[in-house]
This record gives sequence, structure tokens and C-alpha cells, in this order.
Amino acid sequence: MEDIFGMLSSTLDLRDTYRVGQKVSSENLLENKKKVNQIISRAKINAKSDRCLYCGEKVTSFCNSHTIPAFILENISVEGNLYNFNKMIGSPLIKDEDGINRSGIFYVICRDCDSKVFAEYENPDKYSTGPSHKMLAQIAMKNFLKNIYKRKLELEMYKVINEQMGLPYGMLEHQSNIIKLDLNEFMNEYIRAKKSDEKNKSDAYNMFFCERLDYVVPVAFQGPIAMSTDLEGGVINKLFDMDPKYKLQELHLCIFPFKEESLVFMFIDSRWKRYRKFYKQFRKLSLEEQLKVVVYLLFAYTEDFFIHKDLDDEILSNEVLLEISGKSSIVTSMIPFVDGDEVVQQSYDFSQLSLVPNILSKRYEVGR
Ligand SMILES: [Zn+2]
Repeated sequence: MEDIFGMLSSTLDLRDTYRVGQKVSSENLLENKKKVNQIISRAKINAKSDRCLYCGEKVTSFCNSHTIPAFILENISVEGNLYNFNKMIGSPLIKDEDGINRSGIFYVICRDCDSKVFAEYENPDKYSTGPSHKMLAQIAMKNFLKNIYKRKLELEMYKVINEQMGLPYGMLEHQSNIIKLDLNEFMNEYIRAKKSDEKNKSDAYNMFFCERLDYVVPVAFQGPIAMSTDLEGGVINKLFDMDPKYKLQELHLCIFPFKEESLVFMFIDSRWKRYRKFYKQFRKLSLEEQLKVVVYLLFAYTEDFFIHKDLDDEILSNEVLLEISGKSSIVTSMIPFVDGDEVVQQSYDFSQLSLVPNILSKRYEVGR
């Protein structure tokens, strides 16, 4: 999504203000914000189907499904509000904080399904032990539902932008092709997760990292990550391989701050074998270093995390984190012109790992 906003900013002649935060006339900014909001609203309407993706029933209004359960977001909110990713990248076109009720929302399943199908993992009492297989399946299921929605919305945004402003020649087709491949993969993954949940399968996912921290971390996230390179620069996924037969293999990362402690865990589809070297490298690290890797993955590969508003400003403007956060959009914008995978592998290497501030360490706990 981030790259769409980047593109919109340049299309709307905000190129210089995006990321660097220079001032534009407030009139111009307001006008552009209006345009962006109109594009998003149109795309949201077009992205909605008329059936619940879970039960298949016809629905007139979809549930506001939370990606990260509200009971988790509450633990890092200030008066019900949280910072989102835009607090880091600073696009003037979108909000950088939001209420819990509007944070990480997607619309693909009906209210009835939303209240039932995630019940196991959305229950705070279930975390006294490590997450069960059923909980992992439900988390995976939701991650893919969210991704399906996100990609559908992106496709509709490109269409609306093309209609209203015109995109560079070939761009709509190029983006549509990528998105359709992704949608197909996400749909298969979602169906697999749904089945493992229904059948309570114990071998569908492997958890390779699970750490309970006795303090509340200032960030919350759940989502899939398709890593490009391991800790030593070896290739894991070729992110821009356009061969429909090439499947990306993703791990699922969860950072869940609870009332008095936190759980950070990563698991993976048990069919996926590309991460073997990464596990080995990862297991040799100290906990402090492992948590740094998690922070790196979070900022380099994702944009759907939420941050406590009391986190030090020095972190939110930390040069290394900002540079890492920009990777996905920079890489995406260059893809039509260069060999994507070569660029990606160089840009996602862990060379800056030692400089990453470990916001999952006790030093940054909430309410310290
Ligand atoms: Zn339903």
C-alpha cells in the first residue's frame, strides 16, 4: 500500500514533500488529501464483494474485522489511540494515528463469522501457555484474509487512479498481473489455514520462535513476511519471480503485548523448506540479537504495525529504522526497470542489523 501512496504523492506533485516532510501550501495539501480520500473511498466500494469469504453467504454489510485483536491493541493505546506506520514514513496524505476501532481493519467476512472463527486466538485467557495449533491456524487464516483484502483494494485503487489521472503506460497491466498472482496464492494459503483450523490439525504449522517477555512491548503486529535473504545474504525467496509456478514461502510474525507481559513468536507452514539455513543462523543468536532481527523484519518488510504513542521520538525518527522502513517502497518502485531480485537481495541484507534500536527490549517497555 505504501508504494501506492508514494506514487500518488508524485502524481499529485507532492514528490518533494513525501518522506522529507517539507512544507507545502496547506491549501494544496488539503485539496490533495481530499483527492486521495475520494480515491480510497471509491476503491473500497469497488473492492467489496457481495459474499462473505468464509461462509459464502450473501451479505449487505461486512464486519470491521481487526487484523490484530482489539484486546491486544488496547495494551499499547493512549486514550484509545495508536500510531501507525505513517508516523515513521511521514506521508502528508494519510493519518499517522488512529483509534483502535479504525486500526488495521479489513472487510471480507460477515459479522457472524468474525465473532466465531477467530475465537480461539482472540481470547486473552488462552495465552497462559504457548499458542496452540488451532490458534496458529486462525492467525494464519486471518493474515491471508487481510492480505486478500489489501491486494483487492490496491487493485481497485490503481484502476481508480488510472481512470481519474491516468497511469504511465503499461503500469496498470503490470500491477494487475502481480496482484492477481498474489491473490491466487493468498487464496490457496487461506483455504489451507481454514482447513487446518476446522480439522484441528497439529502438523500444518511449525513454531520456530516463541518468547515470553515479562514486560509490555510498545508495538503490536501480526502478519506474514516473505523474507528475501537470510542473515548471511543467502537467498530465501525470489520476491519478484513472475513465474506463476513459483510460490513465495512466508513466515508469520506475531508481536502481542498483553497487560503485563508480551509474547513474540514466529511460525511457518510446515511444507516450506526455504528457511532452513535461516533457522540455524537465527538459533545461534542471543535473545537480544533475535529480538533485533524481529525488529528488522518488522520495519523492513511490513507496514501494518502499531506503535505506542509514548515511544521516544528519537526512535520514531531513528535514521536506520527510517531507512529500513523505506526498503519495500523503494524496491517496488524500481521493479519495472531493473532486475528486481538482485536489487531486493542487496537491499534486504542484514548489514545494518547491529545499528537497529531494539524496541522490543525492556528499555522501551510501556509505562517504564
Ligand atoms: Zn460469513
